[in-house]
Amino acid sequence: IPKAFCQSSGIPASQLKNFATVALSKKVSDMSNIFKFVRASVVATIAVSALGAAFAQGYPTKPIVLVVPFAAGGPTDVPARLIANSMSKTLGQPVVVENKLGAGGTIAANYVAKAAPDGYTFLIHHNGMGTAPALYRKLPYNPLTDFEYVSQVMDVPMTLIARKDMPAKDFKELAAYMKANGDKVNIAHAGLGAVSHLCSVLLRQALGADATTIPYSGTAPAMNALLGGQVDLLCDQTTSTTPHIKAGAVKLYGVTTTSRIKTMPDTPTLAEQGLPGFQMVVWHGVYAPKGTPKIAIEKFGQALRAALKDPAVAGKLTDAGAMIVSDDKLTPAGLQTWLEKETLRYGPVIKSAGQFAD
Ligand code: ASP
Repeated sequence: IPKAFCQSSGIPASQLKNFATVALSKKVSDMSNIFKFVRASVVATIAVSALGAAFAQGYPTKPIVLVVPFAAGGPTDVPARLIANSMSKTLGQPVVVENKLGAGGTIAANYVAKAAPDGYTFLIHHNGMGTAPALYRKLPYNPLTDFEYVSQVMDVPMTLIARKDMPAKDFKELAAYMKANGDKVNIAHAGLGAVSHLCSVLLRQALGADATTIPYSGTAPAMNALLGGQVDLLCDQTTSTTPHIKAGAVKLYGVTTTSRIKTMPDTPTLAEQGLPGFQMVVWHGVYAPKGTPKIAIEKFGQALRAALKDPAVAGKLTDAGAMIVSDDKLTPAGLQTWLEKETLRYGPVIKSAGQFAD
């Protein structure tokens, strides 16, 4: 088949070459069969590329759902809504946040993994995307194969806080209190797979204390329980805890980053208070079901990046301690590489803690 035809038809040369080999090997005497196939392929290719162009032109033509795996009002939900509102303006269609709760974020992730890959369902999730494969031995989805990657978003430090009347005046006293009181001390979290859960596991492991962990559907309800004095401790993102710390409504023992954070310069890290190397930073990614059209991934990613550069959005996020990631991480490859690395990192840590969720 003339080379020029191959190039102009848009049909991959390999496909045409295979066809030619088969046709010739079958000694097809009637040349018209060959041209019938080629004509059908050309029509099909034109039709597919025309459909693709139409999708690209119109997309999005209806509201887009952004699934949040935790309760409204928490540190995943509030930033997601802030970002979604800004994205709606860029995309010209509402980006609607839907909270799908439970099982430390795995119910939401599974829902999106199984959703129609039509460009109208996306997921925002955090470290839980990388820890779930180690925590859940029967995970109904594979974070590394069942999704298209859109972008990372932001890294958020965590704070270890307590009910206001907790007796320990600093982290050193808290560590002694936790060791002395064992399972009488309780720590709230957002479910197995949540970062608040992982933080509590690492804290108990580091202190050799077996405090009781209490699950909620997100750290918004967990924070309400803490403010109401029903639980003792909570490890949560600064995007949720900052206002309560500033209002003096909770007791603050430290931040979980390896160095102090700009928004709380006087707050020591847990690492400098006796837990050298203790680090918990909450990273976030945006995903779509495998097979979502590339143009949808690109347009949603562009709108996300524009939102994160929107001073109204970026200002609020950084005031709450969030660090928007660098441009190289605001890409599909930037998210995929990070997720692969995190999944490898967390596997052994969680398996050694023997804290399986199922
Ligand atoms: N902070 C929660 C967690 O521990 C997530 C959330 O409630 O937004 O994963």
